[in-house]
Amino acid sequence: MKIGLAGCAGLLALLGVGCQKQREESDGRPLVVATVTMVHDLVKEVGGERVRVEGLMGPGIDPHTYKPKITDAALLEEAAAVFYCGLHLEGKMQESLEKLAERRGGVHAVTGGIPEEMLLEPQEDFEGHYDPHVWGDPELWKETVKVVVQGLSEIDPEGAEYYEERGSAYEKRLEELKAWALERVAEVPEDQRLLVTSHDAFFYFGRGFGFEVRGLQGVSTVSEPGLKDRAELVKFIGQRGIRTIFPETSVNPKAIAAVAAEAGVRASGEELFSDAMGTPGDVVELHGERYDKGTYVGMVKHNVNSIVDGLK
Ligand SMILES: [Zn+2]
Repeated sequence: MKIGLAGCAGLLALLGVGCQKQREESDGRPLVVATVTMVHDLVKEVGGERVRVEGLMGPGIDPHTYKPKITDAALLEEAAAVFYCGLHLEGKMQESLEKLAERRGGVHAVTGGIPEEMLLEPQEDFEGHYDPHVWGDPELWKETVKVVVQGLSEIDPEGAEYYEERGSAYEKRLEELKAWALERVAEVPEDQRLLVTSHDAFFYFGRGFGFEVRGLQGVSTVSEPGLKDRAELVKFIGQRGIRTIFPETSVNPKAIAAVAAEAGVRASGEELFSDAMGTPGDVVELHGERYDKGTYVGMVKHNVNSIVDGLK
């Protein structure tokens, strides 16, 4: 692609970074770039065999603090379409993604598909933005599918029907996932549905499944938790008789482990997937089910099973 070659000019070409690899891998299908793992999986589900999807942030990567790599810029330039979460989840990248969208078409924030009245205001000020952790509730995540269907149909009109069919099928799977999760969560008595984690990533989960939620860090992980936050959380855990609290895969577990030690409770051995999924191909068998922790469906199943098993 002409755009791709332009993106490889200058500094990148001198460094020999990324560009050659992309051209070699190109197989005639449109290149679609996604930021976080959840969006990457979503685009793969809708795009199927018709597109080539590259993700910028891998498993365990914290999008709030992610600094774009030099190869990311080349991929974004070369991509026929770009999908990102939005709502300022991709902290340092949001501005450049918005600029890219102004400069060219085909750049989409998938959360743009969610009706504004379904979004939550964060607990503390997040510079006037909504809470971006919408994938915590599959019912809400379902609203993002149509953005991908539309975005892919724009770059590949011949595949429109294909994307429509795959999108509808995936929406149905997300509805089934929500029903499954509600059934599992019902095993935890209502007064024990208290979820304490590393940062405020589970408010949509809490609203969707009837949990009261507390995070050690705020809605972004950019600011470190202070001693006051820690003392308050320890007090809350003691007052409410919580026995298990949860680390997250994309946040350093040390702080939440310190809270658990101070409060005299258990830090779960199962880290929750908050802002990144697991590694694709990491298949687990639990409660008579098999799921891949590197998919959105597997991410939700892992989280729900870990929370229910840890709290009931
Ligand atoms: Zn987060």
